[in-house]
Amino acid sequence: QFKAVTIRKDEAGVQSVGFATLADEDLMPGDVTVRVERSTVNYKDGLAVTGRAPVVRRFPMVPGVDGVGVVEESASDLYAVGDRVLINGWGIGETHCGAWAERARWKSEWLLPMPAGFTSDEAMAIGTAGYTAMLAVLALERHDIRPSSGPVLVTGASGGLGSIAVTLLADLGYHVVASTGRPEQADYLKELGAAEIIDRAELAAPGKALSRERWIGAIDAVGGQTLANVLSMIRYDGAVAACGNAGGLDLPATVAPFILRRITLYGIDSVYVPKAIRLVAWDRLDRDLDRAKLARATTRIPFASVIDAAREIVEGKVRGRLVVEIG
Ligand code: NAP
Repeated sequence: QFKAVTIRKDEAGVQSVGFATLADEDLMPGDVTVRVERSTVNYKDGLAVTGRAPVVRRFPMVPGVDGVGVVEESASDLYAVGDRVLINGWGIGETHCGAWAERARWKSEWLLPMPAGFTSDEAMAIGTAGYTAMLAVLALERHDIRPSSGPVLVTGASGGLGSIAVTLLADLGYHVVASTGRPEQADYLKELGAAEIIDRAELAAPGKALSRERWIGAIDAVGGQTLANVLSMIRYDGAVAACGNAGGLDLPATVAPFILRRITLYGIDSVYVPKAIRLVAWDRLDRDLDRAKLARATTRIPFASVIDAAREIVEGKVRGRLVVEIG
């Protein structure tokens, strides 16, 4: 038997969340069984727990889209008992039970060997949010946006994805402009490397189709009107990596920045990215991410607090990244 968070739906369609004791019969199909050591809380986990968006597509569900742990049973040639493994995405916490459990069964093709350069805590401090930030940095680099090209904006900067994006970009030498709705986090964002802080209210109201050109690139965690305004302010030939929807799923934009300023909008997905790209992203994180800044952006919480933390993240109350001590 093992402890897990479960999300259930009753016959009336009402969702409930709590801790439960599960048995091995409750594990879902897969060829590797893992003793989970650490997980984290992403915005998507918050959406799943609160039911604010239809993230969960199978009930009961164990949330948690990220985990690290030790292989306890394996029917796969890829992993042996005792191996340390990492998982992000592939529908765990959505369609297949996730990592907020002491035990989980997953498909070996979803797993990565634990990257040698990180502790379990560091890997989960990065988690989906941090690895997605790296995917966004890679997209801007592929667009040939270099530190000398001009300033780069990060929205939702004091959140998980935003904090790691600010850190990575600053350490790579970019002039980082951090947009936040929490002015009290300005010192924190400057410690991570932000050169300028702007109030997210500047980007929140409906704006013009084209506004003053300000940044050559942007990593956006917010979506909605914010993303539309960011697009209208990107410099000629610049690019935006759209990663999130913390401010909305809509995109009330015009084509003007695309056809008059030749800008590009890149879509960033972390869930179904092929293994080869994941390995590149984790390798770059190993090389480029300052561990002291990662620690500065991280708070450890006990397993018992994970449901409260999930509710807080969708309220915009979590700063940086959370590491959940499962086992
Ligand atoms: P998070 O820690 O909650 O960060 C989101 C940040 O956005 C908040 O900290 C806040 O930053 C800002 N924000 C929150 N509500 C807002 C609002 N109504 N209007 C404007 N800004 C708002 O969440 P996260 O885990 O980093 O994820 C960030 C986003 O990326 C989420 O939408 C998530 O679903 C998405 N995501 C996508 C992928 C992918 O595969 N594409 C992977 C990971 C995450 P400030 O307080 O600093 O303004």
